[in-house]
Amino acid sequence: MSEPMLALTGIAKSYNRGLPSEVNVLHGIDLTVEKGEIVALVAPSGAGKSTLLHIAGLLDTADNGTVSIAGQDMTHLSDSKRTHMRRAEVGFIYQFHHLLPEFTALENISLPQLANGVPRSEAQARAQDLLERVGVGARTAHRPAALSGGEQQRVAFCRALANQPKLLLADEPTGNLDSGTSDQVFETLLELVRETGLSALIATHNLELAARMDRQIRLADGKLASV
Ligand code: ADP
Repeated sequence: MSEPMLALTGIAKSYNRGLPSEVNVLHGIDLTVEKGEIVALVAPSGAGKSTLLHIAGLLDTADNGTVSIAGQDMTHLSDSKRTHMRRAEVGFIYQFHHLLPEFTALENISLPQLANGVPRSEAQARAQDLLERVGVGARTAHRPAALSGGEQQRVAFCRALANQPKLLLADEPTGNLDSGTSDQVFETLLELVRETGLSALIATHNLELAARMDRQIRLADGKLASV
């Protein structure tokens, strides 16, 4: 079998180590996401989902354990190399869209590509194609404030995929939307991920949404368990 796209082994993390306010969030987490697999990370608020996703996405470091992406050990990289790998390999989606307010939908998806050296015409064509695939093709010239919540989040999905990452990490990606919109927008995200063959780890506390993914794992008391 080929290397998993994401492999976490023995991940441990505490905040405020050594202080009376120390919080032990993760205790020896082992997790793999295979190529093309979509895994639901189910946990109540405060269980450590964001902490785990940030460590997997190279935005934070663990106290112990290793992180491998596409078979490459990321644990001992320099800060600049980690940043480079994160930009090249990982797409991140948050609960809130975090689009740049002064730029249009098309520009928000083109900019990360320009930063990676993609020529402008190619970046814009890819942005347009992604926006059409998520049903926002008629809104490319709109700024985020002129888009609905669901549209904003669809644009954020496109931005996360703009640089063709290998791994998608999403932290309650539709948690900010009303339940009807959330269902539709979530379906769009799953379609997009399946079409592109990406590997994804998607945190949600919604068990119905989790059931639409390939596999569900639960985070509780700093440990993972299968659902
Ligand atoms: P979730 O995403 O599941 O809601 P988080 O990973 O955000 O959980 O947080 C897990 C626990 O760690 C919570 O108790 C939270 O208060 C604590 N925590 C998160 N970030 C910090 C931090 N920077 N400093 C101290 N405690 C933190």
